[in-house]
Amino acid sequence: MTHFISTRGRAPTLDFPGVLLTGLAEDGGLYVPDAWPGFAEGELASLAGSGYAALAADIVGRFAGDAIDAETLAAITRTAYSGFGHPAVAPLKQLDDTLWLMELFHGPTLAFKDYALQLVGRLFDHVLANRGEHMTIVGATSGDTGSAGMEACRDRERLDVIILFPKGRVSDVQRRLMTTLGASNAHAVAIDGTFDDCQDLVKAMFNDMAFRHELRLSAVNSINFARIAGQIVYYVAAALALGSPGRSVSFAVPTGNFGNVYAAYAARTMGLPIARLGVASNRNDILDRFFKSGSMRMEPVVPTLSPAMDIQVSSNFERLLFEMYGRSGTRTEAALAQFRSDGEFSVTPEELYGCRDVFVSQRLDDDGIMRTIAEVAATTGETVDPHTACGISVARAMAAADPKTPVVALACAHPAKFPDAVEAAAGRRPGLPAAVADLMDRTETMAELPNDLRAVQDYVRHHSRAAAVRA
Ligand SMILES: *Cc1c(COP(=O)(O)O)cnc(C)c1O
Repeated sequence: MTHFISTRGRAPTLDFPGVLLTGLAEDGGLYVPDAWPGFAEGELASLAGSGYAALAADIVGRFAGDAIDAETLAAITRTAYSGFGHPAVAPLKQLDDTLWLMELFHGPTLAFKDYALQLVGRLFDHVLANRGEHMTIVGATSGDTGSAGMEACRDRERLDVIILFPKGRVSDVQRRLMTTLGASNAHAVAIDGTFDDCQDLVKAMFNDMAFRHELRLSAVNSINFARIAGQIVYYVAAALALGSPGRSVSFAVPTGNFGNVYAAYAARTMGLPIARLGVASNRNDILDRFFKSGSMRMEPVVPTLSPAMDIQVSSNFERLLFEMYGRSGTRTEAALAQFRSDGEFSVTPEELYGCRDVFVSQRLDDDGIMRTIAEVAATTGETVDPHTACGISVARAMAAADPKTPVVALACAHPAKFPDAVEAAAGRRPGLPAAVADLMDRTETMAELPNDLRAVQDYVRHHSRAAAVRA
């Protein structure tokens, strides 16, 4: 069984269910495995040909150990992926001799976050049922995460989910994916304010300790290691499909919080033969600058065509930093403290060279995104979304540098989630997939609240069964 330790070294060691329910460690750090449950000789080869759900059960089982029995886990992964819109769950499409696209938009909310969250919602339900507990998931969203979180928690017996979004500031598709669920335990709340206001309200709820305990608040954001475990699966699936362990594969990953590309790094640490990892940034290029200079320096966030990557502080980067510092919690904590106070910290050239074996990076501005969408449409016939375009751009550079190693670019969202940019670049408007073709005609249900903590807390209390259980 895998034990988990904090990247800051001062929190209790937990097992997988503990990490799942806890999320952020008590010392402010992120949980990582004490030792990676890697693939022994021959194990990877024997996984080739497993279906996606069986592969997910194997990989998550390595982290969960005896805490969740194998049969239960297999049943959970089966139901988690049964509703996906493609039999392969995460299908690969060949774009040219070297380049492949892995489509991660066949889940209910059309972005890759469904792949981990469909699993994580069910894992929560299972662990909470064993403990006879309820929890309330709260979150703020600027677009994609909210709907994925709501879909993950919908109809779960032990969970209620309340997602705040800025009224009038998310796209119609994004809003409707939250407001048309028709699930009695999943609530979308339009806040009269900005995304930052929504995030501040969520933070304030977590910081109100009495409220936090009363409601058993939790989050399903990407700092939760269970999400990382769920994301390792598609890297293994893709590499096996392309001939691993006999052949190495590279991946190009559009990056915001560094969660998705960290999952690839984790897969590599477990023994998956990954040659290179391409970190794709948009104009918010703090990670690209870091991988080129060894210096992490904060700059203001600018809005781009790929909003899920409009981030300057990549929370999951802390997990890589911990490895770069030889797993020293003290050094990790010191670097992050410096980053918070000065907006900057650096690693040594040796530490940087250590990770340059694996990571390459690139930034793409909005013009580059538009050109890439157009070029991909013209040369391959594929319509890709703006986030995916960032990944394809670094993938092309990786393929040019090493034409013998297949490069898999992750298609992180369905192009129909960003129809205006895609239409402007590719000259055709992408249609919604069949499962949600009637999205624009569905009835919307949402609450509207002022930017007021008391009003939001009253709403949460009223809509959570966790409070009722305690009362
Ligand atoms: C969340 C998201 C990203 C960023 O992923 P991270 O794990 O935060 O790096 C990129 N593209 C899309 C479409 C997303 O929804």
